[in-house]
Amino acid sequence: MDLDFSLMLELAEVDLTLKELEEGYRKKYFRKDRTKPWSFMCYHCEKKVASDEADVFWSIPVTSYDSNGMGRRFCSKGCSDRYFNEQRNELLQRRKRIMEDRRLLREFYEVAEREFKEARYTTQEPYSKVSTIVESIA
Ligand SMILES: [Zn+2]
Repeated sequence: MDLDFSLMLELAEVDLTLKELEEGYRKKYFRKDRTKPWSFMCYHCEKKVASDEADVFWSIPVTSYDSNGMGRRFCSKGCSDRYFNEQRNELLQRRKRIMEDRRLLREFYEVAEREFKEARYTTQEPYSKVSTIVESIA
């Protein structure tokens, strides 16, 4: 597969994951009509959050990038923001690295193309003579 094409695919995946992360980040309300309360442990500070004590919690989805587990739940916006920013920064770093790789690849191709043209110019005498003549007429 073309290297730049695979970098583009990787970039599309990162962008999709960023979107999943941003669009899935939610404040949620506990259902109060359950007979049995349920609880979870905050993914960040490990505080126990129970539906009969709290009204809301924050939830961040599992993205394709971080696919082990079942989405993360948090006791407060402070805790969820920290996790969200960590994930987001990681993705933005990855995005930056891909862009940098693509830039290097482009440079590499440009140098290779120039060298290829120069090599062709020196090895194909008749062709280069013709093009020199054409240039001098123009
Ligand atoms: Zn917490």
